[in-house]
Amino acid sequence: MIIRKSREEIMKMREAGRIVAGVLEMLEKHIRPGVKTASLDSLAEEFIRERNGTPSFLGYRGFPASICTSINDVVVHGIPGRTRLREGDIIGIDVGVILDGYQGDAARTYTVGEVGEAALRLMDATRDSLYAGIDACRQGNRLGDVSNAIQRVAEERGFSVVVQFVGHGIGKEMHEEPQIPNFGPPGRGPLLETGMTFALEPMVNEGTYEVEVDEDDGWTVRTKDGKLSAHFEHTVAITGEGPSILTLP
Ligand code: MG
Repeated sequence: MIIRKSREEIMKMREAGRIVAGVLEMLEKHIRPGVKTASLDSLAEEFIRERNGTPSFLGYRGFPASICTSINDVVVHGIPGRTRLREGDIIGIDVGVILDGYQGDAARTYTVGEVGEAALRLMDATRDSLYAGIDACRQGNRLGDVSNAIQRVAEERGFSVVVQFVGHGIGKEMHEEPQIPNFGPPGRGPLLETGMTFALEPMVNEGTYEVEVDEDDGWTVRTKDGKLSAHFEHTVAITGEGPSILTLP
């Protein structure tokens, strides 16, 4: 069942989302060659707790950090640690916050210094595919219209979408129904109604769509061919006035 939220609940999710967006904005100033991903994690946790939020990823199924830091061929779920950023890297950062019982979840891919043309095109395509998906989050559309909008933009630009990991409903829980694939035919799936709240999160690869999970840490997801991957995410509410992004500063 897809849980529809009241106006008050959506307001609470927007407050959690504001902290998430604040973390992503704050981290931008710290992303440069030489910085350890563990330092970014500490900064994020401090920012969240200062605002009375709780990092929702920390301890989730044993995840050991407050944010995910996914560099270059890492698709999602990279664990912050001693790794230092290098000139030319791209890094996806995913942040989840719970505030007053409600969740916000967003991600963004950043450049470290000067990056190559291919990386920039991949990041643009991923961001644009997210916004195409958000624009399809309208009463009367079907979930497949959202998935298809994301896939179409990514593939038109010559990239592939990850199928093994998907977006999700969100509210009191970080992961609620429905699962939201970043691919599939339009016109199928549940009808979208006001009060539904979704975390849309295209993961788009430069090469193959195939990915593999690191056997040692059980978390880090990498592209099978070692090529780049980008990730952008927003939490979105379907309202009578159209889609409303909840993870904004
Ligand atoms: Mg998510």
